[in-house]
Amino acid sequence: MKKKADLVFIPAMGIGHLVPMMEFAKRLLDRENRFSITVFLIKTLFVSSDFTSYTDSLPQIRFVYLPELEPPPSSSNLRTRESVVSVLVETHKRLVKQTITNLFSSDTDSESTPTRAPIAGLVIDLFCSSLIDVAKELGVPSYIFFTSTAGLLGVMLHLPELDNQIKTHFKDSVTELSIPSFTNPVSPFLLPLPMWSKKDDGYGWYVYHGRRFTEAKGVILNSFAELEPTAIKSFSGGRIRSPPVYPVGPLIDLHGQVHNQTQLEESIKGWLDDQPPSSVVFLCFGSRGSFNAAQVKEIALGLERSGHRFLWSLRRPPEKNKLGLPTDYENSGEVLPEGFVDRTEDRGLVCGWVPQTAVLAHGAIGGFVSHCGWNSILESLWFGVPIAAWPLYAEQHLNAFEMLKELGGLVVELRLDYRGGEDDLVTAEEVERGVSRLMDSDCVVRMRVKEIMEKSRRALMEDGSSFTSLGCLIKDLMDES
Ligand code: UDP
Repeated sequence: MKKKADLVFIPAMGIGHLVPMMEFAKRLLDRENRFSITVFLIKTLFVSSDFTSYTDSLPQIRFVYLPELEPPPSSSNLRTRESVVSVLVETHKRLVKQTITNLFSSDTDSESTPTRAPIAGLVIDLFCSSLIDVAKELGVPSYIFFTSTAGLLGVMLHLPELDNQIKTHFKDSVTELSIPSFTNPVSPFLLPLPMWSKKDDGYGWYVYHGRRFTEAKGVILNSFAELEPTAIKSFSGGRIRSPPVYPVGPLIDLHGQVHNQTQLEESIKGWLDDQPPSSVVFLCFGSRGSFNAAQVKEIALGLERSGHRFLWSLRRPPEKNKLGLPTDYENSGEVLPEGFVDRTEDRGLVCGWVPQTAVLAHGAIGGFVSHCGWNSILESLWFGVPIAAWPLYAEQHLNAFEMLKELGGLVVELRLDYRGGEDDLVTAEEVERGVSRLMDSDCVVRMRVKEIMEKSRRALMEDGSSFTSLGCLIKDLMDES
């Protein structure tokens, strides 16, 4: 069948953003086979071999690696990841336009029958909003792919107005913030760190992206109506100025294809198979979560004292570098307290990167100590596993607050205000307490999470809320082509 519309997808920010975008691409192709999809990968952001094995596993999508460009010299002073990525993406504007022009004209010029239709639109990561200019120059619409909560989307859309209203840095404003996507007042300290101070180079970028979102034709959201009803409704009642928002989630890679690990390693699977149902607490802190030696020690002691079974994904902090990621230890014993491994041998396992969805799907898992990255939250809800919240970076504090306060106790609190500074330590007592509350079989959070699990699965079924929303989006995309 002749393709009717080709969409160019441009992700940013690493796997936590790439994977849900690719899940969306797959879902779109499954639902409407007149689309074809080309993904542009900015090399500096997606260079590791893990990405290559992941992209190789998606033959239905065409991947184009954009050549590496020198970032502008001024960017070496940037302090936050958000600004480094935003500047890098902006630097690629001309190249993106040129590549689209070359690619699509050569497709049509080719002597064989073209398999691809002309470009019908750009689907861009939330930190790529500068590329809306490229879409405008090419005369095609752009859609923001929003990888976090409707709550945060509301914050970003409202930010330009807050920026005008509040003249001081948010961290110095004593008042709590009133944000239409939240029913409760929001403390400025729950926002991503760069939003605290107007002096932060990331602050200006958050305001910039929030402003530019309104120029997009739509926002594709990795959430679902039953999970965040208030926030999602706030976009349609005129309380927040916004293009149409399409909640199409949860978008989850159930096969854990990143890092070339589609299955649990035999040793981990075998160990989990030997544990009683719902007896193991799983600790895992996302693609960027890692701790210094003092914090590792507190976690170990807390786990030991809790007496619970555990599977702990423990990773080595990166070199000090804004885009650096943690790596696996060759021998994690070097950072663990002396004798810890022997003392907990019969009830605990320390590992490196594990395919998280495969772990959460295992019946032995009874609780999840998580940094509250949005993908991790959606995945644990999908499998009905309750979370003890320990947010670390990015928008995770706001996610944990939303889950705890806005959505009626969907997580257990382990520590909500940790920022990982020199003196900031979550103590062994806090870990022990959080784990014990989480693993308590009478824990009400466990029941609430099971309800949401059902709703998340129903949202994707025919006539479910996200299924319907995807249908509306497809109609909008088709009208364009
Ligand atoms: N993940 C994984 N194994 C790990 C750590 C992370 O499979 O050891 C996956 C996890 O399932 C999730 C993603 O990496 O899909 C992390 O995304 P999230 O939004 O939770 O956090 P981020 O890494 O963006 O901070």
